[in-house]
Amino acid sequence: MFNKIGKFCSDIQHFLKGRKKYVSCHWLEHGIVFDHANIIRVCCEQSHEGKGRYVLDDKFNGIWLDINKINSEKEILRLKARNGQIPESCKGCQFLKNDYWDEGIYFSHVLLTHWTNCNTRCVYCPAVRDNALNDENVYNIIPIIDQLFDAKMINEDTYFSVAGGEATIYPEFDKLIYHLLTLGIHNINFNSSGIKYSHSIEQAIKENKGEIVISIDSATAYLYNKIKGTNTFHLVIDNIKRYIQAQQIGEKKVIVKFILVKGYNDNNKELLDWFMLCKKLGVKKLAVDIDIAWFNEFSYKIPDYVTDLVLFAKDMAKINNLDLHLYDRAAIVYNSYKKKKRNTF
Ligand code: SF4
Repeated sequence: MFNKIGKFCSDIQHFLKGRKKYVSCHWLEHGIVFDHANIIRVCCEQSHEGKGRYVLDDKFNGIWLDINKINSEKEILRLKARNGQIPESCKGCQFLKNDYWDEGIYFSHVLLTHWTNCNTRCVYCPAVRDNALNDENVYNIIPIIDQLFDAKMINEDTYFSVAGGEATIYPEFDKLIYHLLTLGIHNINFNSSGIKYSHSIEQAIKENKGEIVISIDSATAYLYNKIKGTNTFHLVIDNIKRYIQAQQIGEKKVIVKFILVKGYNDNNKELLDWFMLCKKLGVKKLAVDIDIAWFNEFSYKIPDYVTDLVLFAKDMAKINNLDLHLYDRAAIVYNSYKKKKRNTF
């Protein structure tokens, strides 16, 4: 009831400002991705028909960002969306929604992933499959962050996601994170293998300004080794414990992930063991996803047992009172299950 009243009031406010609803997404409106190979994109989403990752610039020199050029590109996309035209690359994307979008020109979501090298060799990683893990075209992003900050394109509230490759082995990593914290940025997401312990991540967690996602995909050193291609299971478990110790009481800033991979861990037992391990470690927030290549293989004809695995994960989280975040492909599987169920009744 209160939700409905709140929504009604907010709709009236938008109406009075002359805004109308249209289909778009927060990355399309206010997102920017610094990808590897000197490419700047709108987003990194690719688990849908259009395959996402719209390119804004494929020759970024890594020294100075032509903000006007990027803004004009983004403005064209936004105007088209306002007129009911979304890019082909967005076709079928789960993040599209019919909503009110604000017209400001700024970035609310920034993904830093211009670094591809890594300290694992995960079987599900597209860069491993393409033999594309290297140190090429790595640039120092700090001056670019300052440029965006000075131009008021980002501010303290901007959401930052730092990925890679493996973020912690990026040469400027600690300097970059301390710099973001000094700028007052307080919503940083780190994707890490967890092999190299990072004191800057620890600091972000301590200050409640950052969360780390570590994908272990297993509960034993044997399986971890097979999936991640590195013999570092116990080291990563110890580092997860250290990060947990850094978080404030009641916070959930350490997220442990499980990527379902065909023929490796795609069964209830492995998932259950992983749940139990996470619980034992004191992890309060978990994430599940599906290997992108496998997902593309079965496309939208999702095998029943994969749906069952996602539902099993949901049940286990509920029973064990743990937060579970279904990432992109797992969310698609769950949403299509719910849709099917609705249509049956
Ligand atoms: S592909 Fe999806 S996430 Fe990316 S801009 Fe389009 S709708 Fe948004």
